[in-house]
Amino acid sequence: MLIEVNNVTHIYNDENNITALKDINLNIDKGEFIGIVGHTGSGKSTLVQLFNGLIIPSTGTVRVNSKNITNEKSNLKETRRHVGLVFQYPEHQLFEESVYKDIAFGPKNLGLDEKEIESRVKEVMELVGLEYSQFKDRSPFNLSGGQQRRVAIAGVLALKPEVLVLDEPSAGLDPQGRKSLADLLKYLYDELNMTIILISHRMEEIAELCNRVIVMHQGKIVLDGSPKEVFANEKKLHKLALDLPQITEILHRLKEKGLNLETEIFSITKASDAIIKAIRSH
Ligand code: ADP
Ligand code: MG
Repeated sequence: MLIEVNNVTHIYNDENNITALKDINLNIDKGEFIGIVGHTGSGKSTLVQLFNGLIIPSTGTVRVNSKNITNEKSNLKETRRHVGLVFQYPEHQLFEESVYKDIAFGPKNLGLDEKEIESRVKEVMELVGLEYSQFKDRSPFNLSGGQQRRVAIAGVLALKPEVLVLDEPSAGLDPQGRKSLADLLKYLYDELNMTIILISHRMEEIAELCNRVIVMHQGKIVLDGSPKEVFANEKKLHKLALDLPQITEILHRLKEKGLNLETEIFSITKASDAIIKAIRSH
């Protein structure tokens, strides 16, 4: 098992003493592509920060590759090599004078030699679609928002993590930016065999990419299954103020109006086939 979370409760120790996670149990295997959804404040960001030791839970344990990372002796630097975390709006944390230096920052901290660093920077810039010679010397602050985000993601990929965790990476991107992000994640998963954990509000994105969906509500995991299994709970999701993928919503409405349709469909092409078939036999 790659990541094991056992009986974790987390309380933020400040004036509000909010219990952000309540008795969470969760196992994540190598090779999963997990989507985490839930209303704002449900605990998604807190949960994923457990995975690389950024948050040490109030009670319970977290294991990464069987190593307990919640005890005092654990080596968090080592953990962060295994679990790469791309924060929400990661471009806010760019700070170096050039794209190259920003991406090289993590590998440098690992103590890698200059040649290895350069080859990693080249490799990850290509991965995220930033041409090396064109972008390496540019200031990250003069790039577009979408390009800045790609630099930030490249900085995490340069650590060559086994698991990539992304907290709302498509927030604020235009449709084209979202498409190239989805293509990148598919490539990392299909071709580089990375394990991926994605927090997103976009159910289309989740349904298209993930093979497991976890739904959070008030610090608890309330649904956990394949996209088909999870999106079959239309009423429950609506009660939690969550949507189905838009195309799936449409299929449900058509079914309510009397069309005899399969509704567990998440892609436009499959949906249009199903609608045509239903109308022909109507
Ligand atoms: P989500 O990512 O699903 O929006 P979070 O994990 O950010 O949820 O937040 C869960 C709860 O913990 C919320 O009530 C939030 O206000 C609180 N919280 C999150 N981060 C902090 C923090 N750094 N200090 C105090 N409370 C926090
Ligand atoms: Mg969050």
